[in-house]
Amino acid sequence: MMSLTDKVAVVTGAASGIGRDIAKAFLAEGAKVVIADLNFDAANATAKEFDPSGERAMGVAMDVTDEAQVEAGIEAAAARFGGIDVLVSNAGVQIVGPLETFAFSDWKKLLAIHLDGAFLTTRACLKHMYAQGRGGTVIYMGSVHSKEASVLKAPYVTAKHGLEGLTKVVAKEGAAHGVRANLICPGFVRTPLVEKQIPEQAQALGLSEADVIKKVMLKDTVDGEFTTVDDVARTAVFLAGFPTNALTGQSIVVSHGWYMQ
Ligand code: NAD
Repeated sequence: MMSLTDKVAVVTGAASGIGRDIAKAFLAEGAKVVIADLNFDAANATAKEFDPSGERAMGVAMDVTDEAQVEAGIEAAAARFGGIDVLVSNAGVQIVGPLETFAFSDWKKLLAIHLDGAFLTTRACLKHMYAQGRGGTVIYMGSVHSKEASVLKAPYVTAKHGLEGLTKVVAKEGAAHGVRANLICPGFVRTPLVEKQIPEQAQALGLSEADVIKKVMLKDTVDGEFTTVDDVARTAVFLAGFPTNALTGQSIVVSHGWYMQ
């Protein structure tokens, strides 16, 4: 039997990058998967690509910062597949810049996507997990920046540290209902979010793009390697399938040793 047979999993930001690979890995493990994304066309196309039958994957239009859209999207998913067992709160963006000139609107936008989005999707899914009485798992997408800081990333580091706190509260409140919560903390993964940063950081730091990769992004890894979407997806499958409250409230850092706890 596959590790997620007939579990219903919602993955936010699943039309691209890390979330997309998690959705694919969950389907391969037997889950029914809700691909929730701001980019509805890409979410639908991803669902069709991964499950041409349309029986085990669905795309949902969801801006995770919009309370009504989150509530409607989770209700539609639960109605379609019969409840919610796993939430992967993964949608995210990156906006880099020095603090002294950082736009307040960009600060608020980033915190809203990472933190309001995590809160709203958690609240909507917990209602189902508690009512169903079959437990559940919440996985937040943190980062090595849940543990470490870097220059030019004030709101991102703030938000990713905040998710560690939310993970621990959900672990405590959810325990009585068999709901676990854990945080995955990847190092740099070459998704569109990171590809965009390479030239931006090169300009801000006065370095070549090759040096941004070598001297900034991968400087502290044990082997100079990027983490991959597959590395993160395997970790998500492991956490989603873990059967007891023994593993809850934890951070799992997947970063080629960039950060060691
Ligand atoms: P990505 O840009 O490839 O994908 C992000 C997805 O989120 C996109 O499909 C986008 O449409 C969606 N999204 C953005 N805003 C949204 C919103 N308001 N509502 C719903 N969906 C929205 O990025 P990625 O690298 O796959 O990042 C996914 C998560 O992993 C993020 O939380 C990011 O912070 C985290 N992360 C990434 C890395 C990395 O190196 N790539 C490292 C650590 C953590």
